[in-house]
Amino acid sequence: MRVFRLLIFIIFALCANVAIAQDADTVLLCSATDSATIASDSLKPAIDSLHCNIHQPIAPMRTLGEVSAIDTLPTTCEELQIILFNDNTWRYVRTKPSPKDEQIFSENWNTTATHVYYGVTADNLPESIAIELVDSLSGHHYPYKGYMSSKYGPRGGRGHQGVDLPLKTGDAIYATFDGKVRYSAFSASGYGNLVIIRHNNGLETYYAHLSERMVEAGDWVVAGQQIGKGGSTGRSSGPHLHFETRYKGQSFDPERLFDFKTGELRRRDILLKRRHFSIYAKYEQNFTDEEEAAKQAAAEKAAAKSPSTAQYHTIKSGDTFGHLAAKYKTTSKRIQELNPKIDPKKIQIGQKIRVR
Ligand SMILES: [Zn+2]
Repeated sequence: MRVFRLLIFIIFALCANVAIAQDADTVLLCSATDSATIASDSLKPAIDSLHCNIHQPIAPMRTLGEVSAIDTLPTTCEELQIILFNDNTWRYVRTKPSPKDEQIFSENWNTTATHVYYGVTADNLPESIAIELVDSLSGHHYPYKGYMSSKYGPRGGRGHQGVDLPLKTGDAIYATFDGKVRYSAFSASGYGNLVIIRHNNGLETYYAHLSERMVEAGDWVVAGQQIGKGGSTGRSSGPHLHFETRYKGQSFDPERLFDFKTGELRRRDILLKRRHFSIYAKYEQNFTDEEEAAKQAAAEKAAAKSPSTAQYHTIKSGDTFGHLAAKYKTTSKRIQELNPKIDPKKIQIGQKIRVR
């Protein structure tokens, strides 16, 4: 019944062309254009303009916690679905990668091998790689939350290319970002039951020693979706998750992304340096360095995006940052950067907001 009411609410919200904020900062819905309604075929072109701008609108980072998806709703955008969760929240998900991402899922795509970037070494990667971990439509989630029994770094002859998180056999393991399962099989190389997900952001994550795999190669998954159960299969001395993060096959310390103790994603963007792909490059060794570099990169990115003349918008009834982002072809994040003292949840009618 609650779900039904929520559906009606969403449909009403879309048809009424209003912007709503739900659960504080979890999900923002922003109408695509001033005239669009989701139900009318005659307005399909207006809706289509929504998914062309899909990297632009709306806000949020979405963590699912223990929340699970209960249903999905189609939209008139073929690439977009609304996913409903059992806590009455919802968000948009991409059902297909945007054209820009398609290459990610075709290059070196092999569902039968664990490592597929043959010939790629850290030396032939760029000096630094900027990766947007989450964008306006994507969520993130910890793979498993807990203490680490073994960190990334030199260990024995080969080095430990991931982190180990002890668990109870059967504990839920979650997809960290949206993406497509590249590998789901028992790997004889020591990983045991292994799931590898290639993400829209270009990274791959490895989930090893699972007692059960709940996805198959080729499945699309969303951040926070349970992809398996923890276990001790393969070369393992007790139940734990061995979790790896890789870019073009090169591993880097997963702690650069997640604080596994709190489950938090450390940042929305990451600047991976070539030197990070060394087994000796531990996250905490250059913590301050990394924070500074990330700030610097964000500032440079913001400056590069900033046109020479500022542009302002006067807030009208129903406006949200997501709404403005769509209107001015920018992002909520960028508007927030331009207005650091303004709380997006407390904007008032008549207030002037810098949008460019
Ligand atoms: Zn391990």
